[in-house]
Amino acid sequence: MESKSQASAPSTSSSDPTPLPERLIDRIDGDGPVLIAVGGLHGNEPSGIVALERVCRALREQGLTLKGTLVALRGNRPALAKGQRMIERDLNRVWSPLILEHLLRRDPAEDDTTDQEMRALWWEINAAKESGRPLFLLDLHSTSGFGPPFCVVLGNQPSQRLAASIGLPCVHGLNESIRGTLAEWFSHGYGASMVAEGGKCGEESTIRHLEAVIYSAMGTSGLLGEEHDRVRTARQLLQQATEEIPHHVRVFYREPASGVDFVMGEAPGRRFQNFDSVRQGDHLARNRDGAVFAQRDGYLIMPLYQAEGGDGFFLAEACEGPPTIP
Ligand SMILES: [Zn+2]
Repeated sequence: MESKSQASAPSTSSSDPTPLPERLIDRIDGDGPVLIAVGGLHGNEPSGIVALERVCRALREQGLTLKGTLVALRGNRPALAKGQRMIERDLNRVWSPLILEHLLRRDPAEDDTTDQEMRALWWEINAAKESGRPLFLLDLHSTSGFGPPFCVVLGNQPSQRLAASIGLPCVHGLNESIRGTLAEWFSHGYGASMVAEGGKCGEESTIRHLEAVIYSAMGTSGLLGEEHDRVRTARQLLQQATEEIPHHVRVFYREPASGVDFVMGEAPGRRFQNFDSVRQGDHLARNRDGAVFAQRDGYLIMPLYQAEGGDGFFLAEACEGPPTIP
């Protein structure tokens, strides 16, 4: 199932003596829709991969017959091997039709590792599309700061409905400030997609949340019945983990980050978390120009507590969910 490009690895990775793990974690076949689940698109976020491994193992041990196909994939394997968010470029900021068109026209021998990973993922997704079956994409992430799990909705209405069904708070409006995500690209022409943020990187609770997200998405996409024990238990767990939070919020502010110039500004004893309620004028961070204050009341989304990444934090406010399915 590997793309041909794997055979022509450029010098950037050939010096690494450790063989990369397989792209495919597992593929469990059934007649019906295809759910593609990707973990580790950011190499410092392996929790999604652990969750996928656990779910696939459990499904096989129980011998469950799925009413569709689950394809579980590793994202940025060279970055995962190094425990870094990315190697050359962020593999979750490169998915534009133009970049992809250039990539597919070019000789794979010229690929750097980001190109190789993108080419191979495109190959997997396109192979699924050629099956002619309905497609869903689940992109599993974790955050550098603490906080509850949530969904990020980057696609169109089917994607909004998929995210709204999972049992987690949904963050809307990030596609206006984050470009080139796999989920948004997928939603144009492939199928419904969503991003799940399971909690802080590496926490056991994060892995459990992401396992629950996978089962919940299997219910929505039709691979398991909505009344299946695994689906119901998963949704209960996710709802319990996020009881205090509005179901839908929309981002109204993005604070950019540029390396060492940005640091979340913590008042003594306070460390910000996802979905922390902040008030207008609260001191949230520092950048090269000095202190950064909250523009107005809102919820803090994805405060940056790592050196890598171009987004310092986002502010969001409660909003309406998507229209329900007629
Ligand atoms: Zn991520």
